[in-house]
Amino acid sequence: MLVPGIEIPHLCFQCEDYPCVEACPEGALSVIHQTGAVKVDVETCTACGLCITACPGKVPHLHPDGSSIVICDLCDGEPQCVKACLEGRWNALTLLPREKSISYKMLAATPKELTRKVANHILGEKTTKEVLG
Ligand code: SF4
Ligand code: SF4
Repeated sequence: MLVPGIEIPHLCFQCEDYPCVEACPEGALSVIHQTGAVKVDVETCTACGLCITACPGKVPHLHPDGSSIVICDLCDGEPQCVKACLEGRWNALTLLPREKSISYKMLAATPKELTRKVANHILGEKTTKEVLG
């Protein structure tokens, strides 16, 4: 958590050109065509981190055991995070239909960028700058 109290999801936007998939030297990443999500072959992944570098939002992250990369796979089209958020009545997450006219790559952001955006609204720019730099 970069700013105390502000914890927001940092998720894959399924870029149209999938820089992460292109960057993987092992062929460990592929696209699930039904959902557009990126699938990780954990047996093939060597945890080299090249997909993290290639991602505009630095979305792929290492599994805590360091053995492979983790990327949201959209739970086969039924994201459980959205379900949990609705059940908890926070209503912060919504499943949207994908529109071809939007460049989703532009929306990918690093955890710091996402946190700054939300913190600016909640704490104001001055305080956010003091905390995040
Ligand atoms: S960390 Fe794994 S998935 Fe990412 S580029 Fe390296 S081998 Fe491919
Ligand atoms: S947001 Fe990152 S992880 Fe998702 S498709 Fe784009 S490059 Fe890959």
